[in-house]
Parts: sequence; C-alpha cells; structure tokens
Amino acid sequence: MGEYGLPKRKTKWAGVVLFAVLISCGVFGTPLYIYHRGLSAPELTLFLFYFFATGLSITVGYHRLFAHVTYKTNSVVRFLLLFFGAATYEESALKWSSQHRQHHQFTDTDKDPHNSKRGFWYCHIGWILFYKHSVNQDNVKDLLQDKLIMHQHRYYDLWALVSGILLPLVIGYWTGHLLGAFLMAVCLRMFLVMNAAFFINSYAHMIGSRRYNENESATDHWLGAVLTNGEGYHSFHHRFPNDYRNGIRWYHWDPSKWIIYLFSRLGLAWDLKRTSPALIASFSH
Ligand SMILES: [Zn+2]
Ligand SMILES: [Zn+2]
Repeated sequence: MGEYGLPKRKTKWAGVVLFAVLISCGVFGTPLYIYHRGLSAPELTLFLFYFFATGLSITVGYHRLFAHVTYKTNSVVRFLLLFFGAATYEESALKWSSQHRQHHQFTDTDKDPHNSKRGFWYCHIGWILFYKHSVNQDNVKDLLQDKLIMHQHRYYDLWALVSGILLPLVIGYWTGHLLGAFLMAVCLRMFLVMNAAFFINSYAHMIGSRRYNENESATDHWLGAVLTNGEGYHSFHHRFPNDYRNGIRWYHWDPSKWIIYLFSRLGLAWDLKRTSPALIASFSH
C-alpha cells in the first residue's frame, strides 16, 4: 500500500481564473442577460437539462457507481455518466473516486483530502483551489482495469471540453442562443453543480444530526440533501457507504436513489446494494 501524502499549500491559478469566469459570467452575467434579452424556452431547457444531467452524473455516477460500486449498470449508461460527469470540471472519475475513497478511509484526519476539522471554507473549496494533493491510485485498482474509465482519465481535458463547453455551445449556436448557452448552460450551470458537490464536503460534515455515528463529523440534514441531489443524508452514507441509497425513508429527498431505482426497473441497473433494516436500526440513535 502506497503512502497518502498530506496536502501542500499551492494556489491553483487555473482554478481561480475559472471560478472568476463562472462567477462573473454565470452568476452576474445571467441576470443581466435575462433583463436585457429575456429568457427563451430553448435556453431554459438547455440549462435545466445540463444542470440535472451533469449534477446527477456526479452523484449517480462518480459517487454511487464508480467510487462505491453500490450497483451495476451497462456500458452505455457508464459512458453517459462519464461523459456528463466530465462536464462538471470535477476531475476524472478515477481521481475523484480515489480522493473520495481516501476521504471515507481517513475521515476527519490529516489524510482526509477535505478534513472537516479545518473549517467550512477549507472543505468547501479551499482544499481544491489552494492545496495540492498527491493521489494514490492503490485504492482504485478495480477502476484501473476499466478501459472507459481510463480513457476518460487520460484524456480528461478533451472529455471535459467537449461535454462541458463545446456541446452546449454548439446546441446554443444551432438554436440561435450562443451567448445565452455560454452564460447559463456552461457558466451558471457549472458554478451551481460544483457548489452542490462542495456542500457535501462542507455542509454535510457540519450541519445536521450525527444519527449513525456520533464520533464522526458526517451529518444528516434535509436541506443538505436538497442542495446535493440527495447526498445530504451523509451520516447514513458514511456508516453504510455501499448502500445505493443515502436517504432511506420514502420522504427523504434523494433523487439519485430514485434514478438508480428507476434504472433497475427499466433493466438498466442491477445488483443494487441495500443495508438490512435490522442493521440500520442497530446503528440509529
Ligand atoms: Zn463525507
Ligand atoms: Zn461516499
């Protein structure tokens, strides 16, 4: 087993510049654009499609399929999850999964890439923009065997450019709304989807109930779940990371779980892993 190095202080200027663009164009540019030009149905449709397709590819794909292997699916679905997952600019599925498995293995310690003991800002975005992390691939040996995952990893910049920027711009150009597509389907969408993922590492480790493990920072909270497509039942998830569900009650907001379940009903997913109610009850307090 290789070593897990500690994060080193290093400003990643490309990330800082990217964020400046996303905030100035997406967050401030979008309302100005809508005020002057209005909002057309194709622009809204493209934005909503991209927002949900890419956000859910992180939770349903990167997180619950690749990092935790909570179900199985076919290669077409795997490709689509890798394609739209790349569009979030949250790194390759391989790197994402390695760091995420490290987070589960070393939660709340120095070896946790987004150690919650270092505060909200650090684990929300500081660890990404201002620290360099060594990535140890020993914990993703299963993923190293997968050709599609490795292709996405090796050519990540190309995948991200095509799925995250070029495709929405081409669709925007075809529909006569190139600028609107850039502001909303690229910049605003990317800003919102990134922050949804960041909330899992910040909000879901600070605010809410530590129902399944009082000794660990991960929390369950309904607003955290709403912000993150269902990942906010994070105390449950840290206790039972192999379960395809995060919110286990029918009224828990967990669209990622509903989509995996829908896939299974359509024959697109199988071997969904569930924790037994008796085991869950024995850890709940
Ligand atoms: Zn966590
Ligand atoms: Zn996880």
